[in-house]
Amino acid sequence: MNVHEYQAKELLAAQGIPVPVGYAALSVDEAVAAAGKLPGPLYVVKAQIHAGGRGKGKFKELPEGAKGGVRLARSVDEVRANAEEMFGQTLVTIQTGAEGKQVNRLYVTDGVDIAKEYYLALLVDRGSGRIAMVASTEGGMDIEQVAHDTPDKITTILIDPAQGFMPHHGRALAYALELEGDLNKQGQALARKLYDAFIALDCSMLEINPLVATEDGKLLVLDAKMSFDSNAMFRHKDLEALRDETEEDPMEVEASRHDLAYVKLDGNIGCMVNGAGLAMATMDIIKLNGAEPANFLDVGGGANKEKVTAAFKIILSDPSVKGILVNIFGGIMRCDIIADGIVAAAREVDLKVPLVVRLEGTNVEEGKAILAQSGLPIVAANDLGDAARKIVAQVREAA
Ligand code: GDP
Ligand code: MG
Repeated sequence: MNVHEYQAKELLAAQGIPVPVGYAALSVDEAVAAAGKLPGPLYVVKAQIHAGGRGKGKFKELPEGAKGGVRLARSVDEVRANAEEMFGQTLVTIQTGAEGKQVNRLYVTDGVDIAKEYYLALLVDRGSGRIAMVASTEGGMDIEQVAHDTPDKITTILIDPAQGFMPHHGRALAYALELEGDLNKQGQALARKLYDAFIALDCSMLEINPLVATEDGKLLVLDAKMSFDSNAMFRHKDLEALRDETEEDPMEVEASRHDLAYVKLDGNIGCMVNGAGLAMATMDIIKLNGAEPANFLDVGGGANKEKVTAAFKIILSDPSVKGILVNIFGGIMRCDIIADGIVAAAREVDLKVPLVVRLEGTNVEEGKAILAQSGLPIVAANDLGDAARKIVAQVREAA
């Protein structure tokens, strides 16, 4: 799960991490009111979308040469003018894809006099099984270029979560950022606080670009991108409220409501499978037969009729789906119950595309009989290979 910059900064501020003062706004009036609460004379008006690269982004509807999604303003009137121009427009950045994202929230912050911009990120490094703290003196909007052209300017510090953050990690970070004097001390303290926040919030990624040193010698988090480990959300009920569903794929949102693991893909064969491993094997075998899966969908071990119906509806709401392959192994769940669910769901959604079902496991014969007696045009398959060949053939035939 991702959150907006302003939410990430509020979470960081609550952990004692220095961020510029700012207020989120859902309308031009709110943006103006936000500016009124700030000291000025410099303000920053920032588009809040779940994507980076806003500063260099372009608004689709605005003429060439218009400013991007992060704008400096020198008066409350300028804040108003910028808010009027940005609200409701589509911002395209290197991270949004060509379709861009609509700007429905702004963040109005106190403008900072920047002496230097740094890059700092924390992430879970699966390779080493550690938390990686990645830092560079070359922070700001060109970090991708830095990573590409001069990777030696990026330092990675690995922290063993079993041991936790040690003072030497802080020193290594301050050294990597070439911080001196009081800034060096601030850097060490900040590194520890960020690590603690990262662990406490079960983050999977926290990227601060830029971290800045101000003209008056303070380290400040100027931009923050934060995502959380979805599997840990059960212990962060308060974070759930920060979710902005308008930023997410609508089908994935619907799937998460039914506790289904769904990821949309580019192909035309919808898959409904129980178990993530089997779901991946199913996608592989579809590809092996020369077709492409339209989605990954794991209905989980405890799939019941409601879940199967919800899964069918989600798969079918994708217009590119031209056929469905159901591949269920009835272990904990019995095949006859699954078959009941499939038949009921197929009736309810008025299925118009070919459906191939492969059932295996407990009560498989009863399950197959239910499918056969349903009167629905369900094609039964005997094994995974058979199922993949049949659905690919059916979809080709229908095309
Ligand atoms: P991003 O483009 O989505 O990464 O958005 P950022 O929040 O990182 O802002 C982009 C750039 O705007 C930063 O790298 C800064 O150079 C500039 N910027 C943002 N806030 C301020 C500010 O308070 N003062 C000044 N002078 N520049 C800012
Ligand atoms: Mg940034």
